[in-house]
Amino acid sequence: MRRFGSREALVVRHQQLRYTFEEFDDAVDLLARGLLRRGIEVGDRVGVWSPNCAEWVLLQYATAKTGAILVNVNPAYRTSEVEYALTQSGCRLLVSAPSFKTSDYRAMLTEVAPPTLEETVFLGSEPWAELSSPGKVSAGDLATRQRSLDPGQPINLQYTSGTTGFPKGATLSHRNILNNGFFVGEWCRYTEQDRVCVPVPFYHCFGMVLGNLACTSHGATIVVPGPAFEAGAVLAAVEAERCTSLYGVPTMFIAELEALDAAAVDLGSLRTGIMAGAPCPVETMKRVMSDMHMTEVTICYGMTETSPVSTQTRVDDDLDKRVATVGRTHPHVETKIVDPETGATVPRGVSGEVCTRGYSVMIGYWNDPQRTAESIDAGGWMHTGDRGTMDADGYVSIVGRIKDMIIRGGENVYPREIEEYLLTHPEIVDAQVVGVPDARFGEQVMAWIIARPGSSLDAEGVREFCRGRIAHYKVPAHVAFIDEFPMTVTGKVQKYKLREMGTQEVPGTRH
Ligand code: AMP
Repeated sequence: MRRFGSREALVVRHQQLRYTFEEFDDAVDLLARGLLRRGIEVGDRVGVWSPNCAEWVLLQYATAKTGAILVNVNPAYRTSEVEYALTQSGCRLLVSAPSFKTSDYRAMLTEVAPPTLEETVFLGSEPWAELSSPGKVSAGDLATRQRSLDPGQPINLQYTSGTTGFPKGATLSHRNILNNGFFVGEWCRYTEQDRVCVPVPFYHCFGMVLGNLACTSHGATIVVPGPAFEAGAVLAAVEAERCTSLYGVPTMFIAELEALDAAAVDLGSLRTGIMAGAPCPVETMKRVMSDMHMTEVTICYGMTETSPVSTQTRVDDDLDKRVATVGRTHPHVETKIVDPETGATVPRGVSGEVCTRGYSVMIGYWNDPQRTAESIDAGGWMHTGDRGTMDADGYVSIVGRIKDMIIRGGENVYPREIEEYLLTHPEIVDAQVVGVPDARFGEQVMAWIIARPGSSLDAEGVREFCRGRIAHYKVPAHVAFIDEFPMTVTGKVQKYKLREMGTQEVPGTRH
């Protein structure tokens, strides 16, 4: 970090904060020493529940320096989800924003009681200032702690939902995420001249690895346009900060292009960027390359469990490669496509399950050896649940999903999780959740409900039951009632039929 000294490391627009690399390094060290003073040991879980802000980034690096495991808590989480994450991870300490938009974190935290949690420190409070003060802990003490650490140790825990049961804590090491951030930065050709606008959330690898770690490992500047995504703020940040790179899921770029149509903004400084999380429509890609000047934009594909990036397009790949493929395999990582039934590698061009192996594969799911073994096979291959192909030149295309997942505007939604929550309603006998096409979000959540006979539950009642308890993006936008689900002869619900019916269904009606 010292190498880039007086260059800017972090700019947080909504907090009017700017740190040079030297200042950033100093602030991180003070916080790391404060964590040591607080008694944080190697392997202790320290949670962070906040939208994007400077303190989030400081805590990311400070926990890594002390060997603590940072537990990323999604800012959209509500009570039932945060309680699960803090309890399952065994968090000792939580750093939380007091509130954001409709989320009163302070009030929600009084409702939950994770057994291992000793203290919640709210940002901006006196205890937060104390946490950043080292007391008697010296720089030498921190250096001693750092020397005792091993790159294979876990430093990060991120909850990802799954097709079965409760969310799983993907456990990532220094080696996993720092290397991944570095190689992503290499493929974007970052140098200390780059200024990267990061409107994607830090709680996800897209923010903390592709954003923060790719930048600091190349001397580039992290520019945070706001606490959460807002198209106008992103464009203003790019213009004012002369950003050279911009990140987002396709829905964010679509919103930015709309905002660009409404107001002239100079985006001439942009060169590259990353689009990931969902496939990019070709018209969007064309406009991103022309109207937003991102001629060297890259596509990344991966998942939290692989730190996250496994494949990426190169800055000089053509338009077709950027929309029809997710690029080629990253350095020191392997990709294979297998027949999901037999496990045999399929010929080039034939679709199968995408599998990834290499340094980037997570240590495992936190305290869950069984589900770890279901995802990472004996040969070390992570089975992604994505259906893809690989062409003769090694370009991978994602053509579908083997796992039951909805991608709503870049947020992954696992139907199983919502179904389990809906089943806790006394008037719901059974529930099936599917994704239906949506012009704005790509897909939207739809719940098919079998209600108890005589129940007066309606669509709004179902949504009301979800609000405040599960994250807003998981709350079914469409709810329909049915007497029985279409089934196969072997007794499996035919979700594809519900999806087809849902696409035609007038949402929210009871029949
Ligand atoms: P997450 O663990 O939240 O990073 O989500 C990972 C999943 O998002 C992958 O397994 C894919 O299903 C999907 N995904 C990520 N990147 C892309 C992409 N570039 N194109 C299509 N789907 C993607």
